[in-house]
Amino acid sequence: MGPPEIAAAATDQSTGRPMRSTTDFRAWVDRVDPRELAEPFTYVVDVDGVLRLAPRHSEHVACAGGGPVLAAGEVTFVRRTGGAAVVEVTNQSTGYCPEPSCWPAVAEALDRAGLDRPGGFTAEFVFRCCPRCAELNVVKEAVFVCAMCGDDLPASWNLGAPA
Ligand SMILES: [Zn+2]
Repeated sequence: MGPPEIAAAATDQSTGRPMRSTTDFRAWVDRVDPRELAEPFTYVVDVDGVLRLAPRHSEHVACAGGGPVLAAGEVTFVRRTGGAAVVEVTNQSTGYCPEPSCWPAVAEALDRAGLDRPGGFTAEFVFRCCPRCAELNVVKEAVFVCAMCGDDLPASWNLGAPA
C-alpha cells in the first residue's frame, strides 16, 4: 500500500539490518544509543524468515528493500545482560498491512536472533481497504465498518495482490 514512489525509492536505499543470529543481534544492540533503543524500531521479516531492523519512522517497504515480506511492524527492545529482550512487538505497518496471523513468522525470526519475547503481539492491528471509497481502515473492536464512508468492510484481508 502507499504511494508507488516510496516503493520505487526503497530499492535505492539500504535495507533493514538483518539479524540472522544471536551474534548479529548482539553486535548491533551493543552499539545502539540507549535513547534510540528506548524507541520502537521498524521491522520486517523477509521471505527468508530473517528479522530486519530500521530506525523508527523508516518506511517498512524501504526496510524490506522493496520486496515482499512474511511480517512487518514495530518492535521495542530492552537491553539485558548479554543481549536484549523484546518488550513490545506489533504488526503495525500501513505499508504492508499484515494480518495478526503473521505472528509465527515473527516469533521464529525473534527466536533466531536469540531474543526473549512475548507469546504474541503486544498490540494487534487489523487492516482493511474499503471496497467503496478505498480508505485504508484499522478495524477497531471487530467493527468492520469504514470510518470514512460507513460502508461494510470485508471480513477477510484485501490489501495485497493475491498470493
Ligand atoms: Zn469507505
